[in-house]
Amino acid sequence: MASIFLFGLSFTLDILIINSIIYAVYQKKVAWWKHLFNFAIYCMMVTFSYHLFILLGGRVGEIFTNNLFPYILSLSSYFILNILFIGIYFFLLHKDKITNIFSGMLKDKSFLVSYLTTLLMSIVFGILIFSKNMFGLFLFVCIAILLSVAFNQHFRLFQETLDKANKDTLTGLNNHGYFKEILEKEVTAAKENDQPLCVVIMDIDDFKKYNDLYGHIQGDHLLQEFGSLLKASSDAANYIVARYGGEEFSIIMPNTNRKTAYSFMNELRKKVNDTHYKGVEGLPYGCLSFSSGIAECEKETYSISELLNKADQAMYAAKNQGKNLVQIYNGHSEYTVQRSLSLEKELEEAEFQLKIFLSKDVYTYRHSKRVYQYAVDFSRMLNLSAHERKTLILGALVHDIGKIEIPRDILNKKESLDPHEWEFMKKHVTYGKDIISTNKKLEDLIPLVELHHERYDGNGYPYGLAGKSIPKLARILCVIDSFDAMTTERPYQKTKTFQEAIAELRHCSGKQFDPQFIEPFIAMIKEFESSGDEQHKEVAASIVN
Ligand code: GH3
Ligand code: MG
Ligand code: MG
Repeated sequence: MASIFLFGLSFTLDILIINSIIYAVYQKKVAWWKHLFNFAIYCMMVTFSYHLFILLGGRVGEIFTNNLFPYILSLSSYFILNILFIGIYFFLLHKDKITNIFSGMLKDKSFLVSYLTTLLMSIVFGILIFSKNMFGLFLFVCIAILLSVAFNQHFRLFQETLDKANKDTLTGLNNHGYFKEILEKEVTAAKENDQPLCVVIMDIDDFKKYNDLYGHIQGDHLLQEFGSLLKASSDAANYIVARYGGEEFSIIMPNTNRKTAYSFMNELRKKVNDTHYKGVEGLPYGCLSFSSGIAECEKETYSISELLNKADQAMYAAKNQGKNLVQIYNGHSEYTVQRSLSLEKELEEAEFQLKIFLSKDVYTYRHSKRVYQYAVDFSRMLNLSAHERKTLILGALVHDIGKIEIPRDILNKKESLDPHEWEFMKKHVTYGKDIISTNKKLEDLIPLVELHHERYDGNGYPYGLAGKSIPKLARILCVIDSFDAMTTERPYQKTKTFQEAIAELRHCSGKQFDPQFIEPFIAMIKEFESSGDEQHKEVAASIVN
């Protein structure tokens, strides 16, 4: 522009062609047609703004203040043409909407400012070179270099500030806020392009223990190292990783379905397990581990918080199943299945131990198994919560565990027990409680083991508690346990028939038993009798026995 105002069209075009040749040689990697295109654009811009300048009465030569109007208009036309040609270029290249391209360029304020600056500089350059020739050129080049250095520094500062706002200071990963911003964009894009997307939340297992063992500083160090490993693995797969908070991390996996996400996370889990970090031998697994939940974005997913919530739930399910695990969110029903699977496993273990403990007392072992089977069915009938149900079933299985402390000759005595033998026998509830108390995981079962011989009227043992002061599950177990005791052969007691036992339950309702459970239990027993269900037949058979 300065050249146009000072020297006119042909000189400017000469400069342009020399400049373009130097530039093409310097930037050999750029395709030749791009150089040609660039040169063509410049030619048109230069020619058009020169003719407009002349048309508006502008005078080539010295920079005159009364030339202001032509200067401004010819600068503007140069600017407008430039935007127009660049817009067309991007339109041809990306096939994007042309209005989008222009509005995008014009919205960017820094774009406009830098244009205005260069155009104004051209007038300053013109003034300097006209009045001071070489010295003017020298001054201008100095100013241009210094300005560019200053701009660069500002740009770096800007980038650093941006990083500070978006990055976590400890690990250098994206922080929580920025993570959500990216996730929002990625989810929108995935939905628009109909592509899968997964989000993962992971939580380091037993990190508090690590901190307690080695202190927070080493804890921070571990977080950093874990973060680096996470970043390296995620970068390789083009995933975006962030520190979600504390010892929780998250990964956005664009264009990834749950299956791929699962195998990636499982690989990562193994890698973390196999990597040695200082002091991890003190952790429960003897290595660093994490639990993680995967949620896949679906058409119906209406917000990122819903998606994160699902990943979170899956992560907690992984924790509940014993940690060091990857879990895909599959909707609620599957969790119930998994929960009952984990219950089955616990039961299997409990039954196995019980079998060993009660090997000397086959009678009690079989009784426990039958009571357990009643508990399974009765808890379903009573609509107990999942936790209550689990406690009742496990409690039913182990309620007589204290009998291992009772001598064989008392357990297997054919005649009625002496009073002192009875007193000894009654102690099985306290012994049972002592055994159960050694395992913190079983503490919920203590009331069932200790209080299943308490009576509703307060005449039971070991404490003589009455009514509602006996825990609900212990009151239920009391009914089930007594029914099985009545209807099966005991060394010291005559077996009742099925009908006699029902009559006895009714008779003792409100005395030995909480009345609210009697009729439902009887109804269930009668239902078993009439149903042909295999499992119930088995129970019914054991009732007859
Ligand atoms: P779980 O397996 O159930 O996840 O157990 P956990 O101990 O990992 O989880 P919990 O939530 O009980 O404890 C998390 C700990 O992480 C507690 C907190 O002191 C520690 N923590 C959180 N942020 C940082 C941090 O920036 N640096 C360090 N050193 N520790 C942190
Ligand atoms: Mg945590
Ligand atoms: Mg944790």
